[in-house]
Amino acid sequence: MIKSEDRQQLAQAKLFANVSLESVEHLFESCHRLDLARGEHLLEPGAPNSHLYLILDGELRVYLTDRDLPEHAVFTSGDCVGEMSLLDGKVASALVLAARDTRLVAMPHDVLWSLVDCSHGVARNLLAILAGRMRNDNLALVNSQALSLEFEQAASVDALTGIHNRRWLLEAYPRAIARCDHDGKPLCLLMADIDLFKHFNDRFGHLAGDAVLRRVARQLADGLRAQDLIARYGGEEFLILLPHSELDEALLIAERLRDLVAAGCGLETDEGVQSVTLSCGVAQMRRGELLEGLISRADAALRRAKENGRDRVEMAD
Ligand code: GH3
Ligand code: MG
Ligand code: MG
Repeated sequence: MIKSEDRQQLAQAKLFANVSLESVEHLFESCHRLDLARGEHLLEPGAPNSHLYLILDGELRVYLTDRDLPEHAVFTSGDCVGEMSLLDGKVASALVLAARDTRLVAMPHDVLWSLVDCSHGVARNLLAILAGRMRNDNLALVNSQALSLEFEQAASVDALTGIHNRRWLLEAYPRAIARCDHDGKPLCLLMADIDLFKHFNDRFGHLAGDAVLRRVARQLADGLRAQDLIARYGGEEFLILLPHSELDEALLIAERLRDLVAAGCGLETDEGVQSVTLSCGVAQMRRGELLEGLISRADAALRRAKENGRDRVEMAD
């Protein structure tokens, strides 16, 4: 039974919007009051549910998976919960708990169906409630997809320069090599390192160094062909994969990139424009060679470029 003071609040429920309660009042006989203390669970995932719950006052929160994650939805007086398992007959799919002391009216499934049968208004309101739920669920889905895309990108993109990171390149490498193998084409690797960058930082500060790193990364990325893959390998080093390129062509590309950086990455300072230069080591992949071997040959060539005076390109043996 529902007491008369509760009936007044029940009249405010969305389920009864524009419905005269007198016409359906006889059905409330089989409903009952339910009081939840703060923190008490109303529905738990996997548990059977045979009622629709109308909130008289208080607050219910819905959690889809983990209590540590933000709630999926919050319901207050006038709202209802539990309608999903009512419609499809399945067990509850979410955790619903009282965020503060909450008073509810529990309406058995068959009573709600009788209400729908005898009141168009209730049927229409129930449809509107369900449509709102679906819209909310769709919105949550879109948000979580956007979030996971963001996380995925954050894991593969270097935060300072905005180009890909080492992890991404190591993951992309097997696909690049498989494509070259399939087409019977060679692949070259270019390792580029900014010259005397420690000195640059010491002289002009770390922030100026960061600006140069961003500029160099942009210049390199813009100077590549569509099929080339670039990543910040770490510190002031960049790794560039050149699929479908013989060593001769890779050397030309490296020279072009070195020129681009020398001409376009200087920093305006009080002491005039400070030029920034790049040294490069280039290696062509040998048949059956592992990435580590290719990197270490490109690295050896890079070291030779440093020994031979920097701002230059050397090829691996
Ligand atoms: P070399 O020409 O032989 O490569 O000399 P180098 O000074 O560039 O090489 P070294 O390895 O001695 O120093 C690398 C410097 O790069 C040291 C470090 O402070 C700087 N560096 C690495 N990562 C960053 C970064 O994210 N921001 C800035 N500003 N500097 C960085
Ligand atoms: Mg270095
Ligand atoms: Mg360096």
